[in-house]
Amino acid sequence: MKNITILGATGSIGSSTLKVIAQNPLRYRVFALGAGSNHAQMFTLCQQWQPKYVAMADKAAALILQKQLAAVGCKTEVLAGEEGLCHIASLPEVDMVMAAIVGAAGLLSTMAAVKAGKRVLLANKEALVMSGQLFVDAVKEHGAELMPVDSEHNAIFQCLPQSIQTNLGHCALDDAGVHKILLTGSGGPFRYSDIDSLASVTPEQAIAHPNWSMGPKISVDSASMMNKGLEYIEARWLFNANKDHLQVVIHPQSVIHSMVQYTDGSTLAQMGEPDMCTPIALTLSYPQRVEAGVKPLDFTEMGELTFIKPDFARYPCLELAIEACYSGQHATTALNAANEVAVDAFLQHKIAFTDIARVNSAVMNKVCATEQANQLDSLESLIELDRMTRILAREQLG
Ligand code: NAD
Ligand code: MG
Repeated sequence: MKNITILGATGSIGSSTLKVIAQNPLRYRVFALGAGSNHAQMFTLCQQWQPKYVAMADKAAALILQKQLAAVGCKTEVLAGEEGLCHIASLPEVDMVMAAIVGAAGLLSTMAAVKAGKRVLLANKEALVMSGQLFVDAVKEHGAELMPVDSEHNAIFQCLPQSIQTNLGHCALDDAGVHKILLTGSGGPFRYSDIDSLASVTPEQAIAHPNWSMGPKISVDSASMMNKGLEYIEARWLFNANKDHLQVVIHPQSVIHSMVQYTDGSTLAQMGEPDMCTPIALTLSYPQRVEAGVKPLDFTEMGELTFIKPDFARYPCLELAIEACYSGQHATTALNAANEVAVDAFLQHKIAFTDIARVNSAVMNKVCATEQANQLDSLESLIELDRMTRILAREQLG
């Protein structure tokens, strides 16, 4: 029986994780749950799962939850704030931590799990994007075990040999005969739209992803393909990849979740339904396989699979992210922060969809003119850059 902490339990990945655990009640136990401010949903989860601890980032939400749980006699202990989240990520009883808080807000609790040497099921790509080398070095130093949840990285992981799977962040792709990693993406809801029409698309249209059901931030990122850009940076760190190893391919059907090409001409692909329960199940059970509650593909019902080269005029955020990946840590930390501010403003109808790339690009130009990657040698310095960048990004909102 493995004890699991789920950070971001009230979100899309959080609920898929609970679905997989529900399929395997004798293998996995919900030990602790963490989230931002949604105390009503957390109250339901606590009654259903009876975790030992729950942590809410929002202290007022934690207080309300504590009162509600006491009133129904639920014994779950309620913690609050960033400290509470870090605490449930690092308790000695915990075997695995699902890191599924959205955005930079998840960095410290994810790092707490890493520093406690846990198996870390990494969904929170923003944490890795904003801390890169520091993150993968901490994994090695503290003997943590990194398992990629993101469907593409999980697919790539499955197509790579064990020598790489067990040495993420520090592996040598060339030694394993890897030629290229093909990172696939659907292209989002606007892949066939007239480029001139993108300035007037609404948040509702942007979050209506054609294949995947996800939280609002990642859904907007999928529409702009910033998500693929963040995943490109994520892949660079997870697989210790260089520019020649990485290629983005648009695959509208989302049947293939990514591929690995070897020097002998072989291409390995991982395929499945667009359901996060499949990659989540593997991160829990690796190196075994368990029931995920997902049916296998029916190839006779599938229809055609197609592939397209990404067009940077349609997806300027993707180009920005690839550039940032090779500019250094200051660029990726700043791009992530600017993008969080811009996406939030778009979701609140304050800026147009196409302004997301405009804000990101303007902020990147400013930050790259002043910052140096080599000054970012601590979590504190990264968090400070994140904070400064958010101020610059808000100035750009107009
Ligand atoms: P979501 O919006 O559905 O859920 C986000 C979770 O984070 C919620 O539980 C929320 O309470 C919590 N949260 C938000 N702000 C917080 C804060 N300040 N402090 C603590 N907790 C906070 O998002 P999601 O779609 O589940 O995505 C979560 C992460 O997983 C993101 O980093 C995303 O990129 C990644 N991811 C998601 C999917 C997917 O299919 N949804 C796929 C791959 C990767
Ligand atoms: Mg993904």
